Amino acid sequence: MSEVRVRIAPSPSGNLHVGTARTALFNYLFAKKNNGKFVLRIEDTDAERTSQAYIDNIFDSLKALGLNWDEGPDVGGEYGPYTQSERFDIYPKYAQILLEKGFAYECFCTPEELEQEKEVATANKQAYVYSKKCENLTEEEKAQLRAEGRKPAIRFNIAKAQKAFHPTSELAFDDLVKGELKQNTDLFGDFVIMKSNGAPTYNFAVVIDDMLMKISHIIRGEDHISNTFKQILIYEALGAEVPKFGHLGMILAPDRSKLSKRHGATAVSEFVEKGYLTDALINFVALLGWSPSDGEEIKPVDAIAQDFRIGEISSSNSIFEYDKLNWMNSHYIKMLDIETLKEKLKPFLAKYDLSELNDAQYTRMVEITREPLTILSDITDAVPYFFGETVEIEPEVQTEVLDTEVSQDVLKAFAEQAKGWEFDEENLHEKLEVFRGEFKEKGIKPKQTMWAIRAAVTGRTRGADMTATLAILGKDKVLKRVEKAIK
Ligand code: GLU
Repeated sequence: MSEVRVRIAPSPSGNLHVGTARTALFNYLFAKKNNGKFVLRIEDTDAERTSQAYIDNIFDSLKALGLNWDEGPDVGGEYGPYTQSERFDIYPKYAQILLEKGFAYECFCTPEELEQEKEVATANKQAYVYSKKCENLTEEEKAQLRAEGRKPAIRFNIAKAQKAFHPTSELAFDDLVKGELKQNTDLFGDFVIMKSNGAPTYNFAVVIDDMLMKISHIIRGEDHISNTFKQILIYEALGAEVPKFGHLGMILAPDRSKLSKRHGATAVSEFVEKGYLTDALINFVALLGWSPSDGEEIKPVDAIAQDFRIGEISSSNSIFEYDKLNWMNSHYIKMLDIETLKEKLKPFLAKYDLSELNDAQYTRMVEITREPLTILSDITDAVPYFFGETVEIEPEVQTEVLDTEVSQDVLKAFAEQAKGWEFDEENLHEKLEVFRGEFKEKGIKPKQTMWAIRAAVTGRTRGADMTATLAILGKDKVLKRVEKAIK
């Protein structure tokens, strides 16, 4: 195969998981690096677990991450349709070929019969493999079973394919990430490729689709390794060229268990809702298995694509360090230009009436509050005092700051003097300098003076630059709040 063609083939049984995002990214990078094509295929054969909302989520998340596909359900392409449920008429044809070649056979066993086989295996403490009871049914026997109303499933004949293509009973392939992988296929059992209801199973549909879509390299999670052995035999049985495979280590939570909801967000859209930037997320996810040759971890996807080599992907598991993601996200927030940041913060300011601030005021508010943001949603609790006429005073701020005699003196003097001030930042800066000086002469530290003002105006003892805050709020609001704090 000359052209590099890779794919991501999510099953829409949930929102796009960060693990799938990483697999998609590595495929995307591999395609970019090799001037290849990146294909999106939706594997929705399991109708019960599939929903349109998940499909939309997968599309939106991949797009938000910048992982745009060259061919897929929405953009089409030469090898469509790219949604498995629209391909159901394709699979029986290939199952028929396998039947004719003797690499598959019809199985009439009922669920009850199969259950019984499993129970026997369990009782004998043996791993269950199908008994092959239906392997050699005669045409008469099959006709008889059909007449009884039984509908057959189709099973792949592992031993036949194994013997035909790998007489040693061991199957080996050279994994792009993990090196040589081997397996004795005796233990697989003849698995179903077409269910009795006519639906293909995953292992069969995926081979037919990858084959017809001319996928050259299959890069996916190592949880699929045992499937790969089965799939290789199907390719061979069909006389098709076997693609190259690369299996990525798993992504584990910091406690080394499987990453799940109890550790925090796991879907890309959840991270976005929490205020993670997709640029940070994709950069972070790239580092789960890949490391930059120059050691510089903050790298946009384009730069990663230049540096990416599939053979250098770590074959071991990666730990999803939420702390590291936070660090990276705060870094990406710092790199945003102010206009972009203003837009991105808006969803997290929905509980405030943004129309209270004009554009210049909003810009200034973002400028003075952006520094400590780790995730965009941190803004919500950082800015309540920029909105509303009055302000909520934290209880300890009331007792420990506002109720003191010193603070009361400061606030009375401030209320008196500030009446005559212009509330632009430059002027406030000068006036406050003088104001603090006056109190310093009375033995009050400048810090204490400012504390009193901050407490009255913001209800807090810590926050954004005070002069800028006063200027944004304007004289009316500031004086109202200060008067209110005076006993
Ligand atoms: N639909 C499968 C999954 O989501 C695809 C696996 C594969 O890449 O072959 O796990």
